[in-house]
Amino acid sequence: MAVIIDGKQVAAEIRAEIKQEVERIGDSSGEKVGLAVIMVGDFPASKVYVRLKEKACAEAGIVSVQHNLPEDTSMDSLLDLIDDLNADIAVNGILLQLPLPDALDANEALDRIDPGKDVDGFHPLNVGLLSQNLATLAPCTPTGCIELLDRYKIPIEGANAVVVGRSNIVGKPVAAMLLHRNATVTICHSRTRDLGKITSQADILVVAVGRPNSITEGMVKKGAAVIDVGINRLDNKLVGDVDFNGVVDTCGFISPAPGGVGPMTIAMLLSNTVSAYKLQRNLIVSLLDGSGRRRK
Ligand code: NDP
Repeated sequence: MAVIIDGKQVAAEIRAEIKQEVERIGDSSGEKVGLAVIMVGDFPASKVYVRLKEKACAEAGIVSVQHNLPEDTSMDSLLDLIDDLNADIAVNGILLQLPLPDALDANEALDRIDPGKDVDGFHPLNVGLLSQNLATLAPCTPTGCIELLDRYKIPIEGANAVVVGRSNIVGKPVAAMLLHRNATVTICHSRTRDLGKITSQADILVVAVGRPNSITEGMVKKGAAVIDVGINRLDNKLVGDVDFNGVVDTCGFISPAPGGVGPMTIAMLLSNTVSAYKLQRNLIVSLLDGSGRRRK
């Protein structure tokens, strides 16, 4: 039976570390670390996510200010708000909750966020820096996946890593991060032939497809570490992309969904907000230490 990777526990540890760091910052500078969250329109799932993020900020001592804009907000007013937040020294991170109403252009809005405050790591400049292994602010979910591997001391260097999914927010960045940590990386997607043949060679298997049972018994190598990013609703229950019961006796480690990667995403958002503060105050120049690991 595999070791179950406890994302809730790891996320709680990281959040406690962040709380201490925020206190240290407050003691030494008298400043607070601040996150601005923009939500446009009325998406029930977004409201839940934003509430969770707000609660996590409050517990960590990060000041979060929510900007709720109506559904009929114009692009100009959204960009004006982003400009104001970019200029506000008390705002260290800006998070634009997606999706936006159809009339608004998410890419244009994301591009307008100051890259130094882009705590989601979605700005093209940050995407480019990540691909060059010069990341300052990197996307939260992929960073959370790597952090889980590190906290469970799963070796990345030299490992065969397979990533299923090639989205801009999960698949591609997590593949880049694994590559920078010297894994041999294969990326699979919807046109991949004989998926199981490839996944069953993985020492590390990261699955971000958005479809339950994408990985089933027989598709996983004995002893592999499986990170299930998926969040799907199936028969009124939340499930991941991996058939947990089908693979748990074969793999060596598995992150369950829910309770694996999900809690890490929020912990990494807090971590990015503190890192953004430090970058803005020139306390650090890079998020990575000399070995390419996330700086604590
Ligand atoms: P996308 O829909 O953007 O990407 C899905 C990827 O899966 C695509 O690259 C697609 O390939 C690939 N895919 C689809 N079908 C198959 C298949 N049959 N075989 C192999 N690959 C396939 O999803 P995201 O990356 O945004 O999210 C993936 C999952 O992770 C979702 O369940 C989402 O809810 C969850 N998620 C969880 C987060 C968390 O905090 N825990 C955060 C973000 C996402 P192609 O490119 O060819 O279409």
